[in-house]
Amino acid sequence: MRCEEVQERLSALIDEQMSQQEREQVQNHLMACEACSREYRELRRFVEFCRQLEQPEPKIDLWQELQPMLAEIIAEQKLPFTQRLRRQWSRLVSQVCYGIILFLQVVTYQMTITLSRYIVEPEHTAYGRPAQG
Ligand SMILES: [Zn+2]
Repeated sequence: MRCEEVQERLSALIDEQMSQQEREQVQNHLMACEACSREYRELRRFVEFCRQLEQPEPKIDLWQELQPMLAEIIAEQKLPFTQRLRRQWSRLVSQVCYGIILFLQVVTYQMTITLSRYIVEPEHTAYGRPAQG
């Protein structure tokens, strides 16, 4: 078999679309011929690379994620007006409560810092001062 003939059959060899006899002929040539065997290795690497690309990636099913949220919104739209208002009101109240809690935490933190200055400093200076009397 000539080099050209072998190189024409390389992809068929990789795809295993070849008769037993033909494959043996090509493989015998590959063992003897460095140029063709290098060609074969490169082609095989390329084919493997392409096969990896073809593998489907795990896709995120957006619909699956969004459906519960959408169902909730739709269900809410169907509610009578007063009930919807009450729901929105309660949601608003809980958000406002959360805001108040955050605000209080910040205020408390700042108060602690401010107060600690007043509480610690006199003691500190008292230690530093020589005892009177
Ligand atoms: Zn060759």
